[in-house]
Amino acid sequence: MRNIGPDEMKQLLAAPIFRQIGQTADELGVECYVVGGYVRDLFLERPSQDIDCVVVGSGIEVAEALGRKLGREAHISVFRNFGTAQVKYHHTEIEFVGARRESYSHDSRKPIVEDGTLEDDLDRRDFTINALAVCLNYARFGELVDRFGGLLDLEEGIIATPLDPDITFSDDPLRMMRCIRFATQLNFRIEDETQEALSRNAERIKIISQERIVEELNKIILSPVPSLGFIELSRCGLLALILPELAAMEGVEVRNGRAHKDNFYHTLEVLDNVARTDNGQLWLRWAALLHDIGKPRSKKWENGVGWTFHNHNYIGQKMVSPLFRRMKLPLDERLEYVKKLVGLHMRPIVIADEEVTDSAVRRLLFEAGEDIDDLMILCEADITSKNQQRKQQFLDNFQMVRQKLVDLQARDNYRTWTNPITGEEIMQTFGIPPCREVGLLKQAIKDAIWDSRIPNDHDAARTFMLETAQQMGLHEVEK
Ligand code: ATP
Ligand code: MG
Repeated sequence: MRNIGPDEMKQLLAAPIFRQIGQTADELGVECYVVGGYVRDLFLERPSQDIDCVVVGSGIEVAEALGRKLGREAHISVFRNFGTAQVKYHHTEIEFVGARRESYSHDSRKPIVEDGTLEDDLDRRDFTINALAVCLNYARFGELVDRFGGLLDLEEGIIATPLDPDITFSDDPLRMMRCIRFATQLNFRIEDETQEALSRNAERIKIISQERIVEELNKIILSPVPSLGFIELSRCGLLALILPELAAMEGVEVRNGRAHKDNFYHTLEVLDNVARTDNGQLWLRWAALLHDIGKPRSKKWENGVGWTFHNHNYIGQKMVSPLFRRMKLPLDERLEYVKKLVGLHMRPIVIADEEVTDSAVRRLLFEAGEDIDDLMILCEADITSKNQQRKQQFLDNFQMVRQKLVDLQARDNYRTWTNPITGEEIMQTFGIPPCREVGLLKQAIKDAIWDSRIPNDHDAARTFMLETAQQMGLHEVEK
């Protein structure tokens, strides 16, 4: 972050549109400011296309007059109910709103809104860094209004509310999510009193819709180091309210001097690892976040063995749909993708731990389909062992699995494999009805092909079927 003087501010606002807005406001005799995220991002040198302007007066009138001035290339949408208007001009979207005062009642998040001064408008903003305004009127063009020391907080990397944080969060509890989201995106520290207020007001999140919570949560998940956000969410108690499945993974149990790892912190490490890769898209990150959610339910102490989490991947896989439904996450192919990855996440590790056989890798390829590369990224990210030797061994074996995947994909396409012998053919050949033997024979043929014991064609498969059937006491019927 650099400190920006008045002249430099004028340069940052050099795009002709800012002068045009200022001139329009002058003609209407009202003050107009660019505010909020756009100003913050100017200082952070994060380019953004969305410009928010506050008019001390009617935002809609300024937008309409500006639209006339810009001519045919400007598109205006007016939202009278909200008292806002949007001007789209080339790639820029400018939102105009009249300065407002808000007052809240305790049991609703709908405030009473009245016209107000610029100061009123900045008071209702969520954080000091989001409460900066720059004047666009000719006489004061480029002048910064900073009521709450937002510039200093930007420099020092601090998230703090402009007013009493208990009031700010209680008025609109979504701000708690936004607080942690900005801290995570920008790698800023949450100021102490603001942080304490998060814990005191966490319960209030219940009045916020899942869609709005998820929008902020996704921004946390997409941040460069998402664990920072989840540690904050956990610390203030929000995590247990919005993602109890994840909060349930926190903690370590010790029995007979043996502890299992803290699965919550392990999960965060996996998520950060995935976020560091080139393919850290949102749903792969969700899969990383949820890959071990089956662990608390599958956890057992077994005498002579220690802590076990048998089938935690399948149990976790079953938990994904209800979670997506509750959180209003998409119930389409993105859900299927996350379920698949959670269900399969142990497989490459098991293969790498045992022998890397053709058939095991083919089976994996068959089940993972086009998501095989993402699954491999998740599984590599999942190796968080502190034992360097063990970690290296896994990574080396993984390399073998990857190599075999490449070899096999080049040789044959097992993603869309079908058995060259149908159940119909088996029943006709041996004159038998649908029964267990049909399934056993089909499986035996599949195993033989996938293990490369016989070629993947009909003749070889039929010869093999006749031999195997004989051992099972089945005989070919005369045609
Ligand atoms: P981003 O665009 O990265 O989501 P932003 O800060 O620009 O971040 P917007 O939702 O675009 O977020 O909001 C623009 C501005 O409106 C904010 O900078 C802030 O001043 C104000 N604002 C947004 N949401 C709230 C809220 N819930 N409470 C108070 N002020 C808010
Ligand atoms: Mg914005």
